[in-house]
Amino acid sequence: MKCLICSVSFLEIASWRKLLLIKSPQLVCEKCLNKFEKAEERNWRNEWIGTVYEGTLDSVTSIYSYNDWMKQVYQQYKFQLDVELANIFRADFLPLLKVKEKIVPIPLHPDMLVARTFSQVDELLIAANVSYHHVLSKTLNHSQVGKSKKERVSSELLFTVTQDVQKQHILLIDDLYTTGTTLHHAAYVLKKAGASSVNALTLIRA
Ligand SMILES: [Zn+2]
Repeated sequence: MKCLICSVSFLEIASWRKLLLIKSPQLVCEKCLNKFEKAEERNWRNEWIGTVYEGTLDSVTSIYSYNDWMKQVYQQYKFQLDVELANIFRADFLPLLKVKEKIVPIPLHPDMLVARTFSQVDELLIAANVSYHHVLSKTLNHSQVGKSKKERVSSELLFTVTQDVQKQHILLIDDLYTTGTTLHHAAYVLKKAGASSVNALTLIRA
């Protein structure tokens, strides 16, 4: 096998993991695999207290921390259009096959999708065979990075809801949680449209 990240050839280790996941061959060498770190639990609510977004997002769970290694791997995935790298995280998204909530990926702005040719969030779900629904449309195409908290809170809404979500339980999926603006804006419009609950799962927590 050739490691999907570092391209070095490696031998698959016969382990319980392989026995359990017999249909998922090991794609990444042990050396690369060991550089990923689990995300730490963080308090993400405080920043939103007293804003219109307070309480809109019911929970956020993140899988990996944004360490230097993850930054490198993720840049490769996102900007070098390396769709194959989505398979590395396949096992992380498999539990979603059992989730009863409606799975809603955070969409790219249509212009961005044209430029990038694939939606990295959708691809993560596709790699794990998880079905999803696009019920959000991105209306603004400017980055939130570098904005102050006040600017982020008062800025125009980033999304509109395009399908009926009344009384539905939504699980938002995004790649990276940084400021939390994206997920809070999405949760806000979904709750306004009548969603009963909005939880979120992100691959990475910065
Ligand atoms: Zn490797």
